[in-house]
Amino acid sequence: MQSGYKIMSQKFVIPQRLFFALAITFIAVFGSRTFAKPYSPESLAKLIATAKIEAAKGKSPVVMFDLDDTLTNTRDRTARILHDFANRPTIQSAFADDAKKLATLPFLQVRFLLADTMKLIGIDNGDLVQKANAFWLANFFTNTYCAKDIETTGASVYLNLLAQTGTKIVYLTGRDTPRMGEGTKENLVSNHFPTNPEQVVLMMKPDLSQDDLKFKESQYANVAAMGEVIGAFENEPANINSMANAFPTAAAIFLDTIHSPKPDVPEARVDWVENFVLPSY
Ligand SMILES: [Mg+2]
Repeated sequence: MQSGYKIMSQKFVIPQRLFFALAITFIAVFGSRTFAKPYSPESLAKLIATAKIEAAKGKSPVVMFDLDDTLTNTRDRTARILHDFANRPTIQSAFADDAKKLATLPFLQVRFLLADTMKLIGIDNGDLVQKANAFWLANFFTNTYCAKDIETTGASVYLNLLAQTGTKIVYLTGRDTPRMGEGTKENLVSNHFPTNPEQVVLMMKPDLSQDDLKFKESQYANVAAMGEVIGAFENEPANINSMANAFPTAAAIFLDTIHSPKPDVPEARVDWVENFVLPSY
């Protein structure tokens, strides 16, 4: 009996050690990451169905959309800015090798922080990084560059489907009118997003001084006054959480594209998508 017990005990000890070894490895590899929720493109289709139901009841469904990294792609904007920077004669002559790396930077390698992007492509020249940063800052928030933004995959098709249900579209953005108003309007048209003024409202900050989220929160009452808010889309976790709480019955959908390094994570009830492509049934 005694030896039998020992054998059983040994059998137990080995998997337990293995379990702890695996657990330590797991924490070491994944411990510092935010765990993503599985994507739910079904939430996109569900929102269109909700819009149809609300419209049939005679209500005015309203959906809010952020622009940067929700409907449009700022990584591509940053890549275009860095390409133009790298093609300047002064940069090419002073930093020939690094300028080549920057001139062909694909947008998928663009990180939220410019310093991280530079590191990723092997540029560690502090002087060049500083110059690139200054050029980026002077150009990122401009009509010229935002007018050429590309859409997040499927965004214009999705918004037009939603608009066809009679849903009002609110573009609620942290961009400010003086620097980006004209480029934003031009870009909505060139990307074929809904722009019918009877159905669409563009809400932009009157100047750059206000905090993005505070500005958005200050507009919730105006958005609510337009009808029944049934959905909100954002790429910033703090913003989607704020909207999910302000409009508890609305769908809250997080675009898992790129976002600031703030510690917030989307709340449990928030759905995640990577783009606006509807599920195929
Ligand atoms: Mg955004």
